[in-house]
Amino acid sequence: MHVQAAVTYGAGSDFSLADIELEDPRPDEILVRTAAVGLCHSDLTARQYFPGGGVLGHEGAGVVEVVGSAVTGFAPGDHVVLGFDACGSCRACLGGRPYRCRNFAAMNYGGARPDGSTALRVGETPIAGSFFGQSSFASHCLATARNAVKVDPQLPLDKLAPLGCGVITGSGTVLNALRPFPGSSLVVFGAGSVGLSALLGAVVTQVGTLIAVDIVPGRLELARTLGATHVIDGRSDDVAGQIRDLTDGGADYAVETSGAASVVATAVSSVPEGGTVALVGLGDLQGTITLSHYEMVMGRTVMGVTEGNSVPQVYIPQLIDLWRAGRFPFDAMITAYPFDKIGQAVADSEAGRTVKAVLTF
Ligand SMILES: [Zn+2]
Ligand SMILES: [Zn+2]
Repeated sequence: MHVQAAVTYGAGSDFSLADIELEDPRPDEILVRTAAVGLCHSDLTARQYFPGGGVLGHEGAGVVEVVGSAVTGFAPGDHVVLGFDACGSCRACLGGRPYRCRNFAAMNYGGARPDGSTALRVGETPIAGSFFGQSSFASHCLATARNAVKVDPQLPLDKLAPLGCGVITGSGTVLNALRPFPGSSLVVFGAGSVGLSALLGAVVTQVGTLIAVDIVPGRLELARTLGATHVIDGRSDDVAGQIRDLTDGGADYAVETSGAASVVATAVSSVPEGGTVALVGLGDLQGTITLSHYEMVMGRTVMGVTEGNSVPQVYIPQLIDLWRAGRFPFDAMITAYPFDKIGQAVADSEAGRTVKAVLTF
């Protein structure tokens, strides 16, 4: 079928709108009419993988139109939020940890289905698809039962879309991975959508001292509105020292979302002996970080967290319940754009004017 999509051609290229061809769903696939799709940082960095052209987009939400013959549990008309994909058969998946799937890279940014085929063509030329099992920068996309999460059709899909990646990544780092004790202290580095989602998770768990660090004043302002007890300008002197002063010697937990190696070092220095740092952001895929041997031997823990250690089918409904109860106002981060304004959404996001852009159809 013809679909309208935003196609990219390599690192730094713009997203150009085009009418492209989408294959019919295979027996294990569902066809989803996209209602809204969030713009996530990985959509910008992943452009480099697909110099020959590809469709990104991995926070899709929409309505199921066609269900493959082998799919159970979904019907046309179902409303779904699309999350990350996982193979379902490796040791990690079988153990209930799809976010640790041994085939995560191939399943999510390989640019093709697990069997290597792509469902997308521009004219006769195949282009990369199946990004996070969806490639939802398009009016329609193919997903599977592995990464589709059914949601209440009464709920606004343009609000729910970011639950597919950014919001579960940030909040799950706190709620699933760190699990802070009520009254403890936590610092979030980077007050973008992932960092602010972490902050909202910390509010849910009744963290006592909750600090946000960023270099964009508007984001620090929003962090305060969402529950930060303190905010710090990341460009100010001795950020780790300021955090230690606010937390009686160091925050119990730190969540690093900026992806900058220098900020990782600051995060490690901002927690005390016994403190834990969660690394969530990734700027340079080839980058390395240097840790103080002494600080680590003294009992600090540094852990990497992917997709908030979450099982989307379990965790997204839990977040929706918290949101409906008024305890998880993640939609305060959203700025909506019509799909054809994707270029503006990218520019506003890169400039820090928009925290979480959601493209709507
Ligand atoms: Zn797996
Ligand atoms: Zn993402």
